[in-house]
Amino acid sequence: MSLIDDLLPPSDIRLQAEGPAAPARAPALVDPFGRHVTYLRVSVTDRCDLRCVYCMAENMTFLSKRELLTLEELDRVCSAFVARGVRKLRLTGGEPLVRRDLMKLVASLSRHLESGALDELTLTTNGTLLEKFAPELAAHGVRRINVSLDSLNPDRFRAITRRGDLAQVLRGIEAARRAGIKVKINAVALQGVNDDEIVPMLEWAHGDGMEFTLIEVMPMGEIEPGRLDQYLPLSVVRERLSERFTLTPIAKRTGGPARYVRVEETGGTLGFITPLTHNFCEGCNRVRLTCTGQLYMCLGQEDSADLRTPLRASEGDARLLAAIDEAIGRKPRGHDFVIDRDHTGPAVPRHMSVTGG
Ligand code: SAM
Ligand code: SF4
Repeated sequence: MSLIDDLLPPSDIRLQAEGPAAPARAPALVDPFGRHVTYLRVSVTDRCDLRCVYCMAENMTFLSKRELLTLEELDRVCSAFVARGVRKLRLTGGEPLVRRDLMKLVASLSRHLESGALDELTLTTNGTLLEKFAPELAAHGVRRINVSLDSLNPDRFRAITRRGDLAQVLRGIEAARRAGIKVKINAVALQGVNDDEIVPMLEWAHGDGMEFTLIEVMPMGEIEPGRLDQYLPLSVVRERLSERFTLTPIAKRTGGPARYVRVEETGGTLGFITPLTHNFCEGCNRVRLTCTGQLYMCLGQEDSADLRTPLRASEGDARLLAAIDEAIGRKPRGHDFVIDRDHTGPAVPRHMSVTGG
């Protein structure tokens, strides 16, 4: 059995490409601060075929397969959110493409694209399995994806991911682009690890017509070494980049902590995701579902709502929808991530792979 087979949960569903239609439109999801929740990120598995140093411990304990929502249940929750006005779904993890039969879920969810209820179905992936799945993703209406890649140096890539093969990821990116999927490259900026590669990676991505986004490392879950060693504020990176490039702010907004500039010299778009140096929580439009059915209303807070119990309590969605409403009513104003000498531990105990990045 290959490593990937080993990671795959058993086939737990007989999803049909033609699933039930979304329930009739109901009122929009609006939180206590007047923010409309229109974006759901779904962690379909906590498992991963890599072990990035900033994301996971070397020896992670993963959930037992029994604890996961089935693909059918994930479809039901996603569809309930779509019925309540969510326009964008992002599948993430863990590594979403290691979830067995994920393509059945993608195929099923694509009915909401066809009906016009959903604007976008997308995923965030480490790219290791993209070569295999890119054509199917494209066939099911996935138009853009984010690929996380922190180095273009094969040895360094292996060290950061503790096992990854860079060539495999590059082949995956190529396969996605050949299939007509737009690829955005996301890199976590790591002090003393890949800070010297930021310019070459930007030039590589833009040279190939891909957007490039830098992410500040967030204090989620215990890892070795500590965050203080890894943390590189993007305010510093931006200052350094502007000595070399002309960075023109652009209006593009995704309702998250990213801000974008055009790099005049390359003509490409560069994003900065700065939850630490600037959190932009006031415009937050998203919530996150874990693979066990916990809904986190904020990436940086511990409060969550159990959607699995109402989901399993009946075949109808009334209880589920009531639980979603109740949860949105508790969405906090924002998070308070800090990394400095007084705050070297995690702000939240769960790893990013649990909530989905
Ligand atoms: N496995 C997929 C991948 O790597 O793209 C999806 C899940 S991963 C948790 C999603 C994103 O979160 C990746 O871009 C990853 O680099 C980022 N990430 C993980 N842990 C992080 C942390 N502690 N701080 C900032 N970003 C993190
Ligand atoms: Fe896996 Fe993505 Fe976390 Fe890396 S960042 S260990 S690829 S879940």
